[in-house]
This record gives sequence, C-alpha cells and structure tokens, in this order.
Amino acid sequence: MISTRKDARDAKLTTYFTGKPCKRGHDAPRYVNSGNCVVCNKLSNQSYYKPLEPKTVRIKITIPHKHIRAIKALAAAFCALEKPTP
Ligand SMILES: [Zn+2]
Repeated sequence: MISTRKDARDAKLTTYFTGKPCKRGHDAPRYVNSGNCVVCNKLSNQSYYKPLEPKTVRIKITIPHKHIRAIKALAAAFCALEKPTP
C-alpha cells in the first residue's frame, strides 16, 4: 500500500494510506487530490445530501369578516363528518 501522498500521486492513484488516524480518529485511506480522509468525506457528503426534515410553520392570515360565518359553518360540517355522534 502506498504510504505517502506524493508516492500515490506519482503512481496515479486516487487514494493513499498513511497508517495514521485522521483528526476524527478514522483509520482509513485519504484522497490524493485533497488529503481528506475517505470516511470523513463520506460522512460529510451524507449530511450534505440528507433530506430536509419536515418543518411546522405558523402563518398568519387575515380573513375578511364577511367570510367568517361561512368558514365556521364549513368547519362545523367537517367536524360532524369526522366525529359522528353515537
Ligand atoms: Zn476521518
């Protein structure tokens, strides 16, 4: 196994292995082009591409007074559908 970055570059390899752990303690090969640990790089990519958590947002809307009665009637009708009285 190639142990220095220069040797790996000369041999046209993409990774090399020093035998020393990275700053986060991974005993893993490093990339020739960046010197970054392969495991650190993978973990970094995973966190970057992780899908966003769904968020609860609070919005403020203003309802014209003339519509409030109709909305209340719709809400009451909806509640009646969801919870039928026994
Ligand atoms: Zn690492």
